[in-house]
This record gives sequence, C-alpha cells and structure tokens, in this order.
Amino acid sequence: MATVYINKTNLFKNLSKISSINPNILAVIKDNAYGHGIITISKLLKEFGIKRVCVRNNNEAEIIKGFFEEILVFNPKTNRNAVNISYAINSLSQLKKNRHPYIHLKINTGMNRNGIEIEEVEEALNLILEKNFELRGVFSHFCCSEEENTDTFIQYQKFKELREKIIKFCQKHSLKTPYFHLANSTALSKLPDTFDYVRPGIAIYGGIEEYEPVMSLVADAVSIREIENDGVGYNKTFFSKEKVKLTTIDIGYADGIPYFRHGCKLKDTQAVGKISMDYMSVLGKFKKEVVVFDDIKEFVKNFDTITYDILVKISPRIKRVVIE
Ligand SMILES: *Cc1c(COP(=O)(O)O)cnc(C)c1O
Repeated sequence: MATVYINKTNLFKNLSKISSINPNILAVIKDNAYGHGIITISKLLKEFGIKRVCVRNNNEAEIIKGFFEEILVFNPKTNRNAVNISYAINSLSQLKKNRHPYIHLKINTGMNRNGIEIEEVEEALNLILEKNFELRGVFSHFCCSEEENTDTFIQYQKFKELREKIIKFCQKHSLKTPYFHLANSTALSKLPDTFDYVRPGIAIYGGIEEYEPVMSLVADAVSIREIENDGVGYNKTFFSKEKVKLTTIDIGYADGIPYFRHGCKLKDTQAVGKISMDYMSVLGKFKKEVVVFDDIKEFVKNFDTITYDILVKISPRIKRVVIE
C-alpha cells in the first residue's frame, strides 16, 4: 500500500519563513490542503499557531470548523453558518442574495476571474451597511505574481488606494475596520507592503522554489522479474534487448499520478513503459518500497504541468502519515 508522508519539520520551516515576512497568515488549505490531507494539515497548522485558514467550499469548512478562529470560504454556496465561518463575496449579485453575516469582500483588481469591480465598491459598502453585515476582510488576487511583470505592481497599487477609501468609509460609518489581504505565495517577497494578512497556499507545501517540500509519496513493491529481449506493460512501449531487472510498484494513474507512455524519473530509479491504473514498473530490484517523489519540484519536471496540479490530485485514499 502506498503512503503519503507529511514532513512536519519542513512544513514548520515554510511557515516560519512566511512568518518572517508577515506573521499574520491566512493559510490556504483548499482542495484537501493541496492534496496533503485537510485534517492532517489542519492539526499541524493549529499546532504551529495558525488561527485563520481559507477553504474552497462549505463542505471543507464544516470538516475543520473546530480547529480555527476563522475559516474563509472562497466559494460559498449555502447561507447562514457558524460564527467562525466567513464568506468571500465574489460578485455584487452574490452580495445582494447573501444572508450569511460574516463576509470578506473580494475585489477584482485585474485578474478578471472573481470579485466585484472597483466601480462597484461604493455600492457594495452601502449594501453591507444597510444589511448590517460584518465586513471582516477585503482582498484581491494576483494574476501574474509568479512572473516579473508590471501587472502585480498595478494590482498592488489599485488595492492600496481602495484600502484607504474603504478605511475612510468604515470610519465615517463607525464600522469596524476590516483586515486587508492580498499576497499569495509568489507575491510574498515581491510587495513593498503585505498589509494585514498574507494568503499563501503553495509555499506552505513547498511547491515553489525557496520552500521545503512537505509531501513524499512512497509505494510498495508488488513483484520482481527479469526480462531480456522483451517489453513491459501495456503495448510494451519499453523494450529491452539486454537483461534488466524490474519491480512493479503499487501506484498508478488511479492514485493521481499523471499518465505517461514512456516512463518517468522517480527519486531513486526510473519508471519504464506505460503507467497502469494501479501499478507502474521501475528499473531495479526493490524488495520493499520505492520513493516515487520526495520533492514535487523535481517530479513535476516529468510532465507538462505545475506542482499544484500533481499535488491536489494525489488520491485522498492514500494514507497520510506525519513524520518529523
Ligand atoms: C488558491 C488561492 C490562493 C493561494 O495561492 P498560492 O499560489 O497557492 O499561494 C490565494 N488566494 C486565492 C483567492 C486563491 O484562490
């Protein structure tokens, strides 16, 4: 049976590194904590001292409700919830229909995905006042912060100006000032000011440079054989003239590994041929285990995708085990 190991030391190193930029962390644990296991990660975050997190939907919020002071739901679908659950407002029409009293206003500063438009902020604030909602936070999201480009600075500047306006509005109407959050992982080190909270995801899990990998995936050996002048697996896309030893391990594309036709590089060896649903064949004789990856930044190089994409799809059926 394959196992996912969660490296607590590395997780805490990443959190400490983020804390040195801004100690107020709104940790993003959406989509099963980027595949790491939402409950496993929540326990560890709580132990580190994290008090606020972001999740994808109400289901995820419900699962981890007991762990945190505040849970921000990015895409809420129901109405009225616990006092420690806040809803992101992604559009003016959602705000008009909303009945949950605790909200964060998302503003579109340039990504053009979700959020109310800058021109709608005034109307939104008046609605919030009228409906007596508690505006807990205001945020926006970067489109291009992993690159060096001017979008990030333009979005930052717009957010900063909006912040001043919103603070003035709140003072004028004796509303509690909301907290402002903008920085995702790749923006952490790029902004002149990270405002009240930072909102990193992938950095926590070490899926970008300068952060330590948190997940390793280890599979078990199922059978060993030797072939010569023969191939292995479906369609025998790997063929060896010479004698080679092969081990079949118990992990396949049903576990979330991207499909491959011509092998891929693992930590200590190499998979060959086509990956099967529940198995893959690797070069060498392994009696017990094979490390599929212990650093997603290396493993992702096998595929035309990003670290996030592989991590979030690692099957939740695989057991998560915390190691120091
Ligand atoms: C996913 C997400 C984040 C975290 O992004 P990373 O690139 O993983 O740091 C932050 N904010 C919002 C709105 C998101 O959807």
